[in-house]
Amino acid sequence: HLMPSNGYAALTSDWDSFWTRNLKMRIEDCFSVPTTLVPGRTINMLERVTKDYCRTFQFTGRLKEAVNLSSYNYLGFAQSTGPCADAVEEIVHTYGLSSCGTRLEAGSLDLHSKTEELVAEFMGKESALLVSMGYATNSTTIAGLASKGSLIISDELNHNSLVFGSRLSGAFIRVFKHNDVKDLESVLRDAISQGQPRTHRPWKNILLIVEGLYSMEGSIVKLPEIVALKKKYKFNLYVDEAHSVGAIGPRGRGVCDYYGIDPKEVDILMGTFTKSFGAAGGYICASKEIIDHLRLVNHSSVYGESMSPIVLQQIYTSMWSIMGRDGTGAGQERLSRLAWNARYLGSNLRKMGFIIYGDRDSPVIPLLLFNPAKIPAFSRECRKRDLAVVVVGFPATSIVASRARFCVSASHTKEDLDFVLSVVSEVGDILGLKMSSRRALEM
Ligand code: PMP
Repeated sequence: HLMPSNGYAALTSDWDSFWTRNLKMRIEDCFSVPTTLVPGRTINMLERVTKDYCRTFQFTGRLKEAVNLSSYNYLGFAQSTGPCADAVEEIVHTYGLSSCGTRLEAGSLDLHSKTEELVAEFMGKESALLVSMGYATNSTTIAGLASKGSLIISDELNHNSLVFGSRLSGAFIRVFKHNDVKDLESVLRDAISQGQPRTHRPWKNILLIVEGLYSMEGSIVKLPEIVALKKKYKFNLYVDEAHSVGAIGPRGRGVCDYYGIDPKEVDILMGTFTKSFGAAGGYICASKEIIDHLRLVNHSSVYGESMSPIVLQQIYTSMWSIMGRDGTGAGQERLSRLAWNARYLGSNLRKMGFIIYGDRDSPVIPLLLFNPAKIPAFSRECRKRDLAVVVVGFPATSIVASRARFCVSASHTKEDLDFVLSVVSEVGDILGLKMSSRRALEM
């Protein structure tokens, strides 16, 4: 049974009513202070709302400056100043804001093909298809790859867009335990045989769907083992890299780069531009044959507005920088800074005695709160000390695995992270969240 969501329910109205109804807590206690997408200290909330991207979780009416540890702006490209913003400003004067059409009608600009070529090259695949929304990239692509008679095997913590897309396809769905390769193999064996001889598969095709980096767990997919299974069982592999592209790997190219695996080993590499690239939309990278097919059957691409020129420019400029083509070395610097920040924050929190989930290279750092009553308290105490965090609990996690989820960015300075450590340490003492430091290090 697929989970209804991998955690985003935590920020929906269900969450409000769950807590207010059941625990009689003030809604604003469940959320962080309003913060802008720009990590680091924000200045004046209202001023920024009018001229900058802004993501607020719950606006309580108070203006406050805070260190933002809740944004997916991993590489700091979402800033309103810098090379991306300049390039985007210029493109508005040439192309305007909208493409005013779908890809199959008059909405295809030269910028679309230029960006698709760059994305395919970046991901090491033959071809790429851009879709205006990350969520829709998954939810409307999967039906083009699997249908009634197909088998989809899905990690139990896959994102809601993958779950939705899988259900929409009409394929038979089996779920395996999160990132558990043994369980995956047993599900595969069981599903493939299904009472039939191995050579006579009952399935039209088999699609295994996983994520590169799980944003609620901070866990990186066990890709080498999965690629080995793929050779043995001959399924197609779909990896959602929303949180891993631009965030892990020495060249920022996601999980294949991280493990040194040839991207050709993965059939479909999907990702979004809403995190590391500070833009919007998503992509599918695959062979030319698959992409040509998806161009005709992906409903968001066929029936929906194509990607806006300014979004394309933001993607192009940030990717160009990560690839080092601007000749400044700034992209590589951002990658190194993010990697250093992730390790620095994660390892120091572990040393302090907190229980931290996930991989040591993950820029998403979940800190376990366990008791659901500590969710609002943690958020409130951090907020009092000018730290904005996302807190997550049931139904997005099990009731005893409530957590705070920190996202580090290349834009955080060491001073920011030291400030974070001192605040979290203080709050951890108040709420009794630390184990003895020795036990935590052993974990
Ligand atoms: N896939 C994953 C794994 C995600 O976490 C998200 C959202 N954060 C999406 C897809 C949807 O992307 P977007 O927010 O760009 O629509």
